[in-house]
Amino acid sequence: MPSRKPFPDRPAPRPEARKTPCSVSARCGGCQLLHLPYQEQLAHKQQMITRLLGQLCPVEPIIGMQDPVHYRGKVHVVLSQDRNGHVFSGVYAAGTHHVVPVKSCLLHDPRADAIIATIVEMIPRHKLRIYNENTHRGYLRHIQIRTANVTGQVMVTLVATGREFPGGRAFVGELIRRHPEITTVTLNINSRETSMVLGKTDVALYGPGFMEDELCGKRFRISPQSFYQVNLRQTEVLYRTAIDLAALTGQETLLDAYCGTGTIGLCAADRVKQLIGVELNADAVRDAKENARLNGVTNARFFCDDAGRFMVKMAQEHQPLDVLIMDPPRSGSDEKFLSSALTLQPKRIVYVSCGPDTLARDAAILVKGGYRAVRAIPVDMFPCTEHCEAVMLFTR
Ligand code: SAH
Repeated sequence: MPSRKPFPDRPAPRPEARKTPCSVSARCGGCQLLHLPYQEQLAHKQQMITRLLGQLCPVEPIIGMQDPVHYRGKVHVVLSQDRNGHVFSGVYAAGTHHVVPVKSCLLHDPRADAIIATIVEMIPRHKLRIYNENTHRGYLRHIQIRTANVTGQVMVTLVATGREFPGGRAFVGELIRRHPEITTVTLNINSRETSMVLGKTDVALYGPGFMEDELCGKRFRISPQSFYQVNLRQTEVLYRTAIDLAALTGQETLLDAYCGTGTIGLCAADRVKQLIGVELNADAVRDAKENARLNGVTNARFFCDDAGRFMVKMAQEHQPLDVLIMDPPRSGSDEKFLSSALTLQPKRIVYVSCGPDTLARDAAILVKGGYRAVRAIPVDMFPCTEHCEAVMLFTR
């Protein structure tokens, strides 16, 4: 399904800027703003966020990136074959299932592209069969690579149709020999006829089956299915912005809603009395609990639940809540969650959003319910693309 475009009115390429430094950008469609110099990309995002949030409060200057390329620490490619049977890797052309061959990408961490090139070269020699989406035959489907920012760890996930990996031991052995930077290789089993990349089951083929990284001086373990920010160089900027807005004094009960592996809350744990995290993905919650332990954090509890359902329970039980940090997916939060937040009346709500249009929608509900929108700060987490993150502070 084509992703919903937050900014349908993107500026047309200026004739002199039309040439982009990527030969497949027109067919791939992932970098909608690549034709603009970075300062103009930022100006464009500033304008769009102002249009969406400016009626609620002044929008502060967008925080851009130092070096806005090769920032993606999570890389996913599809494996495919051309008419002559040659194996290649690429991306789905925007909104289709047509695979555009991509050897190197301006956004990817180059370590990931190098590993992918090796895997593609190895596949025919190891007589591995590529999955065909039309006939539903074949074995290997996708490659996902995650590269840590601080620890340098690299997690390779091979997505295949079954647990039985023909010649898997030799394949993984060669891969590790050629890329000693890889710290773990996992097999994800996805036998469904679906466009979802990952199936439910993961098996470790080499190493511990997860990766570890550091953010804001804390250590985090990340499993293959757990969310981890895509732009790790900019994540600390985002988290510091959110945690500063929360103005914590050490006395608060903080709820980190949609907490993933607990990263935001655990980075703030030293500054609160009590941290509660809620997250739907069971793997991520398991990581969050382990991450609390890894960092010696003893004032945190994490729950695996739908954030809306969890908030309803908190409101029914009149649980005290001083500060709420929420970071929902692009589709935003929901009625249950927001109305319970209005009942619980935390002093401050910090809303971290990667979907400014759903942020605007949810912000209007909070404002109607008695909150004041005080600050809005756009943070560019996705240079070259039209997506933009924003952090917003609401007070009673
Ligand atoms: N704050 C985290 C994760 C943000 S991404 C970080 O910075 O890493 C959004 C998270 O919301 C994902 O981990 C996703 O699994 C989770 N999520 C999606 N729908 C949810 C729901 N209904 N209830 C709780 N968590 C949900």
